[in-house]
Amino acid sequence: MKRFLALAFLIASVTHAQQPVLHVLAFYSETVEHDHVDFAHQAIKFYTAAAKRDRFDFASTTNWNDLSASNLAHYQLILWLDDQPHTPSQRAVFEHYMTNGGGWLGFHIAAYNDKDTSWPWFISFLGGGVFYGNNWPPLPATLIVDDKTHPIAKHLPSTFMSPANEWYIWKPSPRLNKDVKVLLTLAPSNYPIGLKDTIEGGDLPVVWTNTKYRMLYMNMGHGDRIFTSTTQNHLFEDAVFWLGALRVTPGR
Ligand code: ZN
Repeated sequence: MKRFLALAFLIASVTHAQQPVLHVLAFYSETVEHDHVDFAHQAIKFYTAAAKRDRFDFASTTNWNDLSASNLAHYQLILWLDDQPHTPSQRAVFEHYMTNGGGWLGFHIAAYNDKDTSWPWFISFLGGGVFYGNNWPPLPATLIVDDKTHPIAKHLPSTFMSPANEWYIWKPSPRLNKDVKVLLTLAPSNYPIGLKDTIEGGDLPVVWTNTKYRMLYMNMGHGDRIFTSTTQNHLFEDAVFWLGALRVTPGR
């Protein structure tokens, strides 16, 4: 009996140790711009490996109808890899999820919005910025880390070279919103950036959070170069840790 109990205890401990604490689901699409599909595939590969290393549970889907209340009940964090909801009901589910403590990490065009988007809540969720312009072709850029003490910047130097990306500028800058905390910014030394399409200047936040929500937006996400920087890869991994840990912050 004693031996049985010891064995039962051992099994329980192992099960407990192996139980993933954070369940993450990534949404993406195979039918969008080729460079965005490439990014999504590489992101899935990256986060699948990170999940193994860091012991969180990671799954991905191209079915945006998985953005349903019953399905999201299983996940503490969702990722949008270069796409966004396609229907009013998916939008409504997302709104409800985020206003009730859900976690979101969005990349690149996931935050795209313009005069035809007709989703005011989403624009305010992002901090108020409407898409204003981009550089073309994709180019590497020096980024400034605005807050070195922030958990997502734990492994970042104060500036670093981010691999080739199509950078977006927003108007007004999300930085003007008092609830937004900008964490990384495109260094002014990059200007003018672009050849065919050029961003001449202006405030270009690259990574930010709207502190009213458990959310983080990252502008990276165009093409197959994004995961070629070890430094930047730390950011992508630490972002999941941070968003996952916020889950247990009292009052959220
Ligand atoms: Zn793009």
